[in-house]
Amino acid sequence: MTTTLITGIGELVTNDPAVGDGSRLGLLTDAALVIDGDAIAWVGSAVRAPTADARIHLGGRALVPGFVDSHTHLVFAGDRAGEFAARMAGSRYDGGGIAATVAATRAATDDHLRALLAARVAELRAQGTTTVEIKTGYGLTVTEELRALRLAGEVTAETTFLGAHVMPTAGSTGGERVDRQERTAGAAGSTGGPRVDAGTDRDGYLRLVTGEMLAVCAPHARWIDVFCEPASPHAFDADEARTVLEAGRAAGLGLRVHGNQLATGPGVRLAVELGAASVDHCTHLAGPDVDALAGSATVATLLPGVEFSTRSPYPDARRLLDAGVTVALATDCNPGTCYSSSMPLVIALAVREMGMTPAEALWAATAGGARALRRDDIGVLAPGRRADITVLDAPSHLHIAYRPGVPIARALEIEPGRET
Ligand SMILES: [Zn+2]
Repeated sequence: MTTTLITGIGELVTNDPAVGDGSRLGLLTDAALVIDGDAIAWVGSAVRAPTADARIHLGGRALVPGFVDSHTHLVFAGDRAGEFAARMAGSRYDGGGIAATVAATRAATDDHLRALLAARVAELRAQGTTTVEIKTGYGLTVTEELRALRLAGEVTAETTFLGAHVMPTAGSTGGERVDRQERTAGAAGSTGGPRVDAGTDRDGYLRLVTGEMLAVCAPHARWIDVFCEPASPHAFDADEARTVLEAGRAAGLGLRVHGNQLATGPGVRLAVELGAASVDHCTHLAGPDVDALAGSATVATLLPGVEFSTRSPYPDARRLLDAGVTVALATDCNPGTCYSSSMPLVIALAVREMGMTPAEALWAATAGGARALRRDDIGVLAPGRRADITVLDAPSHLHIAYRPGVPIARALEIEPGRET
């Protein structure tokens, strides 16, 4: 295995409080780092650096742990630019636009989806993201959800089955909704459109998601997720979400929840009760939600790109941090509510709009994301951890939020001579 010594690091953020300045970021100046294959072999002061087979000199640039984007929906075709324009003109988001992406994704070939996914992963790396979680949820049939998971699995180990994204509509392009009111009234929601496995009623779709679809998808997924949002007629209420999560857990999957995005509701407390790794959005929280998170191992993952893109109020990150909750930041990159794969933008929004310090935001986008994925091999730059590193064309991590919109971050390519 070739070892590579990296020198000329103006500032090294390790996220290891045992080294450097003693802060949570574990900041080192005049640092060096040795990489052995895919792993970090040594971290310390440049004057004490060991020799290595090859050498990279960074000319005073800062290094930070690679960004961990623990929440994306990257397997999709088409876009919803028109919906974005309508929202900017004043219409409200209620989760219903997902059906348009479902139709476009089902119509795409494997090769087309694969090419779109590869381009998006390249886009992530070009902005400093080295780990990405990818959810399904634009298929909503057994075959389409399986296809999305297989494609996601070609680019990441962090694959999430999200058959319970929304209730499918009667046909691929819209038609009648299978909504809660219809179920309550005891009426069948649709006559069943083409390529919809079980769109006749909410209970029928839930049986499919927790039955055949789960059985087929579970071997290809690490996680299961559900859009628990009673405020949306397209999403799932507390009982439905519990059914989905318990079935996923029984199938061996870890749990994640979309919750409390559009209104206060049961998502956060359900996630904590069931021991989910993360509950994501957390935009509208009641006091008991914060208390529940504070006493738990469930990470609150904030997705401020969504509030930015939907012109909505931001989550109260300060309240969560002050209560001792572990906070992560992620993009939620998706074609409807946040078509941005930029973790630097998310960090800038968290600092500028959500009251986080630059240090808190960077930690949340790296070590916080690793916690949200229950990973201890990433998010920290220390011996034995993965050599997932992001380089900044700047002397310190402060520049990520200080220079919003400027492409200063990228994943470090560990090829000797590349960065000299
Ligand atoms: Zn999402």
